[in-house]
Amino acid sequence: MAHLVELRDHVSLREYESIAHLSRAVRELREEAASLLPGLKGHRVWMVNSTSHGGGVAELLPPLLAVLRELGVDANWLVMEADDPHFFRLTKRLHNLIHGQGDANLGEAERALYRQVSRDAAKAIERHVSPGDVLVVHDPQPLGAGAFLRKEMDIAAIWRCHIGLDRQTPETRAAWAFLDEYASAYDHAVFTAPEYIPGCLAGRATIIHPAIDPLSHKNRDLSIHKLVGILADGALIPTPGPMLTPPFPKPAKRLQRNGTWAPATEPEDIGLLHRPIVTQVSRWDRLKGFLPLMEGFVALKRDLDSRAGLDEWHRRSVHLARLVLAGPHPESIEDDPEGKEVLAELCKVYASMKPELQADVAIVVLPMSSKKHNALLVNALQRCSDIVVQNSLQEGFGLTVTEAMWKHAAVMGSHAVGLRQQIRPDLDGYLVTNPEDPREIAARLDDLLRDQRKREMLGRSAQQRVHDHFLIFTQVRRWLALISNALDAR
Ligand code: UDP
Repeated sequence: MAHLVELRDHVSLREYESIAHLSRAVRELREEAASLLPGLKGHRVWMVNSTSHGGGVAELLPPLLAVLRELGVDANWLVMEADDPHFFRLTKRLHNLIHGQGDANLGEAERALYRQVSRDAAKAIERHVSPGDVLVVHDPQPLGAGAFLRKEMDIAAIWRCHIGLDRQTPETRAAWAFLDEYASAYDHAVFTAPEYIPGCLAGRATIIHPAIDPLSHKNRDLSIHKLVGILADGALIPTPGPMLTPPFPKPAKRLQRNGTWAPATEPEDIGLLHRPIVTQVSRWDRLKGFLPLMEGFVALKRDLDSRAGLDEWHRRSVHLARLVLAGPHPESIEDDPEGKEVLAELCKVYASMKPELQADVAIVVLPMSSKKHNALLVNALQRCSDIVVQNSLQEGFGLTVTEAMWKHAAVMGSHAVGLRQQIRPDLDGYLVTNPEDPREIAARLDDLLRDQRKREMLGRSAQQRVHDHFLIFTQVRRWLALISNALDAR
């Protein structure tokens, strides 16, 4: 009903510290930790969630735990299990309701199921936990179990909710009414944005932003040789000559004119290494706004010939630009009917485009069978991009934008809450007001494509912003402070 997860290889703080532009952040973290650690001695910290692989939380926990441990915190990871499959169906429903979607009718049957499974899970977790420990519970699945434990044991408990919606709807109200009795048992709660804090937790919640690991495969620096190697191994560029490393077992594939998928080097090179490149990498989700982005890009291209008075640089930039829309290979989204639908819709619109416009748009699916290869391909793609777009209609945070900002790309987001938190408009990137308006998208892209200096300026500021706010070091500092406060308050 609950199992411990062992941490595998991780990057040591000394490695981060050895990188010139990270050493200050690590030093500040060590200093802050030194003043807080005495208060944490003898208290174990338990991160509790519901899966050890797949999903953002499972991705985020290993580097966070590794750094906490290296600093001297006895930090551990427990995964809650439930035998009854109805339980996770119910928590998925709650997840969707918190996002404002789904059937808001939650009755006594649902309450009884949630209560029973949570009570059983609490018993299983209790075997690991001692009085004085700190429980950090992630998302709604283990929320109930943590609440039971907090009531029965002398521990501190913090609930970290990674999801939310920036408005109230009957659906969100139903979810919070359901979860209220459990959430209110906690000492404190943590959300990603102030807009996500429900009324029942007002005054007892803090904001901690998600963060990226600058040395992960997704974000680490790539030398020119490595970058070219990854692109060639993944079939995103034609192999330029003999290579040190073999091709990835599964290449990136690109949608062809006849509707089939072929290695992304077909029917011809996309031009990642020499053309102006506009990219969006995301899950195939309607809320990511792929379709209006493609329409906006196509409108920009289509109108180019009729525009008078453009200087040569501007005209050539738009003329040569290519759009890459990338997401997971359909194989990996077998259990995601909406994802398949969204991809199929894009393919259909692509099929109806003129051949010269089709040549300028690459719909690419990335292999998901190797997490490392996938991460390296995303890394390389973002690094080849002059502009990285995240045209989301809604976005919890939007790590794709954090990742691109770290790589000093010029980013173009929307006013979705998560993106607004990261991108200060015209300083770190652009924000489109209406991500469903191809005209506005085209105008903003045109502006960015025309002005290389502006892109560089935005990129520099974006990287600094991630450096200051959205790297794991800041996140660990926030957690250390919060855990200390929770212990003090006990
Ligand atoms: N991602 C990936 N491969 C893909 C598509 C997305 O690795 O084909 C990653 C992306 O780099 C980011 C994460 O999935 O790290 C998506 O997180 P985000 O917060 O942007 O959106 P979410 O998918 O959680 O809504």
